[in-house]
Amino acid sequence: MAKDKACKTCKLIYYEASCPNCGKKEVSETFKGRVEIINPEKSILAKELKINKNGFYAIKL
Ligand SMILES: [Zn+2]
Repeated sequence: MAKDKACKTCKLIYYEASCPNCGKKEVSETFKGRVEIINPEKSILAKELKINKNGFYAIKL
């Protein structure tokens, strides 16, 4: 099973070779907490984490 990893740049949790959000490859495997962002334009949390796309994100890297 693939290990969970989170993008160090945008905090997206993903399984691909590079981040589908920002294309970066630097990841953290020791992130804490995860949150699903569904409506980033309506979510206060998304604004706080500077997220503008749907997906699962790490809260703390
Ligand atoms: Zn990213």
